[in-house]
Amino acid sequence: MQINGTLINYYFHCRRQCYLFGNRLNMEDNSEEVKIGKAIHEEKAEKGNSEIAIENIRLDKLTEEYLTELKKSDADVDAAKWQLLFYLKVLKSKGIIRKGKLEFAEKNKTGRKTVILELTDEVENELDRYIQEIETLLSQEAIPPVLGSAQCKKCAYYEYCYI
Ligand code: SF4
Repeated sequence: MQINGTLINYYFHCRRQCYLFGNRLNMEDNSEEVKIGKAIHEEKAEKGNSEIAIENIRLDKLTEEYLTELKKSDADVDAAKWQLLFYLKVLKSKGIIRKGKLEFAEKNKTGRKTVILELTDEVENELDRYIQEIETLLSQEAIPPVLGSAQCKKCAYYEYCYI
């Protein structure tokens, strides 16, 4: 599978999730968390912020300065950060240079947390290293072990991993 933003996100969230998704075991349709994420996207689309797709990536909003990605919670900022940096890299390869803006929309909270990201040479080198690590991970025979973490209960692969 070609490396995409979802794989990058999963790599930081859980190596096993990244491996399972990358080897095409897709359980996402069963996940409440994913359904909530989709609902947020749909609500944004109704307000006129329709998604833009380039190759295998979906972009929430592209302006002259920023590529904005909307996330439903700030539970895993690192995963969301590297996913957005990956999108910035894909845009850069097409001659579109942008900064990243991550917006976290937490339910029951009126404010919205925002993180600004920049794809510097140093950051891009680090991202390239992660892409290589993911390629190595996906090609290995053994499935990484379960995390045994509280975050597993919200994961689309929970039943696969624990039941
Ligand atoms: S349930 Fe836990 S161990 Fe299994 S893929 Fe999800 S996060 Fe990883």
